[in-house]
Amino acid sequence: MSTIEVRKITKRFGEFVAVRDVDLSVAAGEVVCLLGPSGCGKTTTLRMIAGLERATAGEVVIAGRRMNELRPEKRNIAMVFQFYALYPALTVGQNIAMPLHYERISTAEIAGRVDRVADILHLRDVLDRMPGQVSDGEKQRVAVARAIVRDPNCFLFDEPLSRLDVELRHSMRGQIKAVLADLSKATVIVTHDQLEALTMADRIAIMREGLIEQVGTPHEVFARPANVFVASFIGTPQMNLIDAELKAYGNGKATVSFDQQDVDLGVDPAVEGLRPGRITVGVRPRAFSVVPEHTADAVEAMAELIEPMGAETLIHARTRTGSDIRVVVPRDKRVKVGEALHLVPDPAQTHVFAEDGRAVRA
Ligand code: ATP
Repeated sequence: MSTIEVRKITKRFGEFVAVRDVDLSVAAGEVVCLLGPSGCGKTTTLRMIAGLERATAGEVVIAGRRMNELRPEKRNIAMVFQFYALYPALTVGQNIAMPLHYERISTAEIAGRVDRVADILHLRDVLDRMPGQVSDGEKQRVAVARAIVRDPNCFLFDEPLSRLDVELRHSMRGQIKAVLADLSKATVIVTHDQLEALTMADRIAIMREGLIEQVGTPHEVFARPANVFVASFIGTPQMNLIDAELKAYGNGKATVSFDQQDVDLGVDPAVEGLRPGRITVGVRPRAFSVVPEHTADAVEAMAELIEPMGAETLIHARTRTGSDIRVVVPRDKRVKVGEALHLVPDPAQTHVFAEDGRAVRA
């Protein structure tokens, strides 16, 4: 079975801990994206799975077998890198066939396998061309073809699309996802592009400073972020994270005070378990209703900057004490600069984070 198990894996470079006690399981046929800001340890984690970096502690198990002592070439892993380095003097077909020359199989078998992956990745028509004579998208597909032409235990992708332009990246995401869906292999993709992770992954592991902060489906990490970091990292425009004081909870409403206003917010009943004190309230820009007049559950702010975004409009509003609140409304909702806004957060989409940054929920 093609599976990847990473158990309490740690990597130290001298005193510096780049990856700390990371646990991750990837099932056969599952795509897991490692997502996080630059330097958080994504590539180091991937390199330890591949055997290109030795784990300081912990265990890497692939297809049920401990791999720590095995060299990369013995792990039967296919890797696709950001720099896909095709051999310029070989045709596309010969580039794809390259990994098979290390296996003891006949020329006819090699030709058959190359044809098969060329069909999957729509490269039939360019098999006889040189790498210099194909587009960037085709080059990337050749790199993927070269990875899947063997029958590896699993796939590892390191920022596979980051060198492509935006449009090509968009179409390649779909194509790679479709190819992976048919192969039933455990796959790990490293990316710092949340859109890539949200569209390609079955689950996303969000990393920060060498730790995994949350692992979940794209919907889970978006709709139920485990902490303030994940909440701020996932979603565009970014979630509003408002520092506030919890004053009381009753009848399904939390009275919170910020910006010299008291607001009665509908929140998860688990907030009842918090003592009054500092909290962070998280509301995504699309989770506000703009209502005609003040209500007890409305946040007051003034529209300061209006940015048309096609079908929607992004409003930057400012509260009395100067906090910025981003609100996204449909384009036909007319708002003028200087207008006083009454913003009611949707209770089902209002997140409360305790003082330590963890999400509070039942
Ligand atoms: P990026 O998106 O920028 O590639 P990343 O999340 O993949 O970032 P890593 O490349 O895994 O991050 O690096 C994690 C941390 O470990 C960084 O602070 C990096 O500087 C450090 N690091 C990586 N390799 C080494 C090394 N060989 N020696 C010392 N420090 C290293």
